[in-house]
Amino acid sequence: MSFASLGLSAPLLSAVAEQGYDQPSPIQQQAIPLVLSGQDLMAAAQTGTGKTAGFTLPLLERLMQGEPVKPNQVRALVLTPTRELAAQVAESVAIYGRHLPLKSAVVFGGVKINPQMMQLRRGADILVATPGRLLDLHKQNAVRFNQLEMLVLDEADRMLDMGFIHDIRRILALLPMKRQTLMFSATFSDPIRALAKTLLHQPQEISV
Ligand code: AMP
Repeated sequence: MSFASLGLSAPLLSAVAEQGYDQPSPIQQQAIPLVLSGQDLMAAAQTGTGKTAGFTLPLLERLMQGEPVKPNQVRALVLTPTRELAAQVAESVAIYGRHLPLKSAVVFGGVKINPQMMQLRRGADILVATPGRLLDLHKQNAVRFNQLEMLVLDEADRMLDMGFIHDIRRILALLPMKRQTLMFSATFSDPIRALAKTLLHQPQEISV
Protein backbone atom coordinates (compact mmCIF):
# COMPACT_ATOMS: atom_id res chain seq x y z
CA MET A 1 0.00 0.00 0.00
CA SER A 2 1.39 3.40 -1.02
CA PHE A 3 0.29 6.97 -0.31
CA ALA A 4 -0.12 7.50 -4.07
CA SER A 5 -2.66 4.65 -4.31
CA LEU A 6 -4.83 6.42 -1.70
CA GLY A 7 -5.54 9.26 -4.12
CA LEU A 8 -3.23 12.00 -2.88
CA SER A 9 -1.57 14.23 -5.46
CA ALA A 10 2.06 15.17 -6.09
CA PRO A 11 2.56 18.10 -3.68
CA LEU A 12 1.30 16.00 -0.77
CA LEU A 13 3.19 12.88 -1.84
CA SER A 14 6.40 14.93 -1.90
CA ALA A 15 5.76 16.30 1.57
CA VAL A 16 5.08 12.81 2.91
CA ALA A 17 8.22 11.42 1.25
CA GLU A 18 10.26 14.28 2.70
CA GLN A 19 9.04 13.21 6.14
CA GLY A 20 10.45 9.77 5.42
CA TYR A 21 7.10 7.96 5.58
CA ASP A 22 7.34 4.76 3.53
CA GLN A 23 3.73 3.70 3.72
CA PRO A 24 0.44 4.85 5.23
CA SER A 25 -0.43 3.61 8.71
CA PRO A 26 -3.65 1.56 9.13
CA ILE A 27 -5.72 4.60 10.13
CA GLN A 28 -4.36 6.53 7.17
CA GLN A 29 -5.17 3.66 4.78
CA GLN A 30 -8.76 3.70 5.96
CA ALA A 31 -9.36 7.39 6.63
CA ILE A 32 -7.73 9.03 3.61
CA PRO A 33 -9.92 7.52 0.83
CA LEU A 34 -13.04 8.03 2.96
CA VAL A 35 -12.33 11.69 3.58
CA LEU A 36 -11.42 12.24 -0.07
CA SER A 37 -14.79 10.79 -1.06
CA GLY A 38 -16.52 13.49 0.98
CA GLN A 39 -18.13 11.24 3.58
CA ASP A 40 -18.45 11.96 7.28
CA LEU A 41 -16.20 9.89 9.51
CA MET A 42 -16.14 8.69 13.08
CA ALA A 43 -12.73 7.23 13.91
CA ALA A 44 -11.49 5.57 17.07
CA ALA A 45 -7.75 6.17 17.14
CA GLN A 46 -5.17 6.83 19.84
CA THR A 47 -2.33 9.32 19.57
CA GLY A 48 0.67 7.72 17.88
CA THR A 49 -1.36 5.94 15.20
CA GLY A 50 -0.74 8.65 12.61
CA LYS A 51 -4.27 10.03 12.92
CA THR A 52 -3.13 13.63 12.41
CA ALA A 53 -1.84 12.90 8.90
CA GLY A 54 -4.92 10.71 8.49
CA PHE A 55 -7.16 13.77 8.45
CA THR A 56 -4.70 16.54 7.51
CA LEU A 57 -3.59 15.01 4.20
CA PRO A 58 -7.09 14.49 2.71
CA LEU A 59 -8.22 17.85 4.10
CA LEU A 60 -5.39 19.57 2.25
CA GLU A 61 -6.13 17.55 -0.90
CA ARG A 62 -9.79 18.63 -0.88
CA LEU A 63 -8.88 22.26 -0.18
CA MET A 64 -6.83 22.35 -3.40
CA GLN A 65 -10.23 22.43 -5.15
CA GLY A 66 -12.65 25.30 -4.75
CA GLU A 67 -12.72 29.03 -4.20
CA PRO A 68 -9.84 30.86 -2.51
CA VAL A 69 -10.61 31.80 1.07
CA LYS A 70 -11.93 35.32 1.70
CA PRO A 71 -10.86 37.69 4.49
CA ASN A 72 -11.85 36.47 7.96
CA GLN A 73 -13.32 33.27 6.51
CA VAL A 74 -12.34 29.67 7.20
CA ARG A 75 -12.74 26.68 4.87
CA ALA A 76 -11.68 23.87 7.23
CA LEU A 77 -11.86 24.08 11.02
CA VAL A 78 -9.99 21.67 13.31
CA LEU A 79 -11.03 21.82 16.97
CA THR A 80 -8.69 20.46 19.62
CA PRO A 81 -9.03 20.29 23.42
CA THR A 82 -5.67 21.86 24.32
CA ARG A 83 -3.29 24.47 23.01
CA GLU A 84 -0.48 21.90 22.91
CA LEU A 85 -2.49 19.69 20.57
CA ALA A 86 -3.57 22.73 18.52
CA ALA A 87 0.08 23.73 18.04
CA GLN A 88 1.00 20.14 17.13
CA VAL A 89 -1.78 19.82 14.55
CA ALA A 90 -0.90 23.23 13.10
CA GLU A 91 2.70 22.08 12.75
CA SER A 92 1.52 18.99 10.83
CA VAL A 93 -0.64 21.18 8.57
CA ALA A 94 2.40 23.36 7.85
CA ILE A 95 4.62 20.36 7.09
CA TYR A 96 2.19 18.41 4.89
CA GLY A 97 0.95 21.57 3.17
CA ARG A 98 4.38 23.07 2.51
CA HIS A 99 4.09 22.67 -1.30
CA LEU A 100 0.53 24.00 -1.50
CA PRO A 101 -0.61 27.63 -1.81
CA LEU A 102 -3.00 27.32 1.14
CA LYS A 103 -3.19 29.53 4.21
CA SER A 104 -3.35 28.06 7.68
CA ALA A 105 -3.69 29.61 11.12
CA VAL A 106 -3.80 28.44 14.71
CA VAL A 107 -5.56 30.11 17.66
CA PHE A 108 -5.75 29.12 21.31
CA GLY A 109 -6.30 30.73 24.68
CA GLY A 110 -3.75 31.94 27.21
CA VAL A 111 -2.05 34.33 24.80
CA LYS A 112 -2.96 37.79 23.44
CA ILE A 113 -5.97 37.81 21.17
CA ASN A 114 -4.92 40.78 19.00
CA PRO A 115 -2.22 39.05 16.94
CA GLN A 116 -4.72 36.25 16.29
CA MET A 117 -7.30 38.78 15.09
CA MET A 118 -4.70 40.25 12.72
CA GLN A 119 -3.76 36.80 11.47
CA LEU A 120 -7.37 35.89 10.69
CA ARG A 121 -7.90 38.99 8.57
CA ARG A 122 -6.40 37.31 5.50
CA GLY A 123 -8.64 34.24 6.00
CA ALA A 124 -7.54 30.66 6.63
CA ASP A 125 -8.02 27.61 4.42
CA ILE A 126 -7.36 25.61 7.59
CA LEU A 127 -7.85 27.02 11.06
CA VAL A 128 -6.78 24.95 14.08
CA ALA A 129 -8.44 26.21 17.25
CA THR A 130 -9.35 25.52 20.83
CA PRO A 131 -13.09 26.08 21.42
CA GLY A 132 -13.09 28.93 23.94
CA ARG A 133 -10.71 31.18 22.05
CA LEU A 134 -12.51 30.51 18.78
CA LEU A 135 -15.77 31.73 20.34
CA ASP A 136 -14.02 34.84 21.68
CA LEU A 137 -12.67 35.58 18.21
CA HIS A 138 -16.10 35.08 16.70
CA LYS A 139 -17.61 37.48 19.23
CA GLN A 140 -15.05 40.06 18.08
CA ASN A 141 -16.06 39.48 14.43
CA ALA A 142 -12.56 38.22 13.65
CA VAL A 143 -13.77 34.94 12.19
CA ARG A 144 -16.76 33.94 10.04
CA PHE A 145 -17.92 30.61 8.71
CA ASN A 146 -19.83 31.32 5.46
CA GLN A 147 -17.15 29.49 3.49
CA LEU A 148 -16.78 26.56 5.88
CA GLU A 149 -16.62 23.20 4.08
CA MET A 150 -15.08 20.87 6.65
CA LEU A 151 -15.02 20.39 10.42
CA VAL A 152 -12.73 18.08 12.40
CA LEU A 153 -13.10 17.31 16.08
CA ASP A 154 -9.78 15.92 17.27
CA GLU A 155 -9.64 14.03 20.59
CA ALA A 156 -13.37 14.51 21.02
CA ASP A 157 -13.43 12.37 24.18
CA ARG A 158 -10.95 14.71 25.85
CA MET A 159 -13.03 17.70 24.79
CA LEU A 160 -16.03 16.21 26.56
CA ASP A 161 -13.94 15.30 29.64
CA MET A 162 -12.68 18.87 29.82
CA GLY A 163 -16.22 20.25 29.77
CA PHE A 164 -16.18 21.76 26.28
CA ILE A 165 -19.55 20.39 25.25
CA HIS A 166 -21.34 23.75 25.54
CA ASP A 167 -18.62 25.54 23.59
CA ILE A 168 -18.76 22.86 20.91
CA ARG A 169 -22.52 23.20 20.61
CA ARG A 170 -22.21 26.98 20.34
CA ILE A 171 -19.64 26.59 17.59
CA LEU A 172 -21.76 24.02 15.73
CA ALA A 173 -24.65 26.48 15.71
CA LEU A 174 -22.45 28.93 13.78
CA LEU A 175 -21.45 26.49 11.03
CA PRO A 176 -23.22 25.74 7.74
CA MET A 177 -25.28 22.53 7.86
CA LYS A 178 -23.85 21.42 4.53
CA ARG A 179 -20.31 20.43 5.41
CA GLN A 180 -18.12 17.37 5.86
CA THR A 181 -17.51 16.45 9.50
CA LEU A 182 -14.84 14.16 10.95
CA MET A 183 -14.63 13.09 14.56
CA PHE A 184 -11.60 11.44 16.15
CA SER A 185 -11.73 9.96 19.62
CA ALA A 186 -9.67 7.46 21.60
CA THR A 187 -12.85 5.58 22.48
CA PHE A 188 -16.47 5.31 21.32
CA SER A 189 -18.16 5.92 24.67
CA ASP A 190 -21.91 6.60 24.99
CA PRO A 191 -21.43 10.39 25.30
CA ILE A 192 -19.21 10.31 22.20
CA ARG A 193 -21.82 8.36 20.26
CA ALA A 194 -24.49 10.84 21.38
CA LEU A 195 -22.37 13.76 20.21
CA ALA A 196 -21.63 11.98 16.93
CA LYS A 197 -25.34 11.56 16.29
CA THR A 198 -25.90 15.29 16.48
CA LEU A 199 -23.03 16.38 14.27
CA LEU A 200 -22.25 13.61 11.77
CA HIS A 201 -24.34 12.73 8.73
CA GLN A 202 -24.38 8.99 7.90
CA PRO A 203 -20.79 8.58 9.10
CA GLN A 204 -18.45 5.78 8.18
CA GLU A 205 -16.88 4.26 11.29
CA ILE A 206 -13.31 3.12 11.55
CA SER A 207 -11.36 1.75 14.45
CA VAL A 208 -7.66 0.94 14.72
P1 AMP B 1 -0.11 11.08 15.45
O1 AMP B 1 -0.76 9.78 15.83
O2 AMP B 1 -0.87 11.78 14.39
O3 AMP B 1 0.17 11.93 16.63
O4 AMP B 1 1.31 10.72 14.76
C1 AMP B 1 2.32 10.04 15.46
C2 AMP B 1 3.70 10.14 14.79
O5 AMP B 1 3.76 9.28 13.66
C3 AMP B 1 4.06 11.52 14.28
O6 AMP B 1 5.32 11.84 14.79
C4 AMP B 1 4.10 11.39 12.77
O7 AMP B 1 5.11 12.20 12.24
C5 AMP B 1 4.39 9.92 12.57
N1 AMP B 1 3.76 9.37 11.35
C6 AMP B 1 2.52 9.66 10.86
N2 AMP B 1 2.25 8.94 9.77
C7 AMP B 1 3.34 8.16 9.53
C8 AMP B 1 3.67 7.18 8.53
N3 AMP B 1 2.81 6.85 7.55
N4 AMP B 1 4.90 6.58 8.59
C9 AMP B 1 5.75 6.90 9.58
N5 AMP B 1 5.51 7.81 10.56
C10 AMP B 1 4.32 8.43 10.55
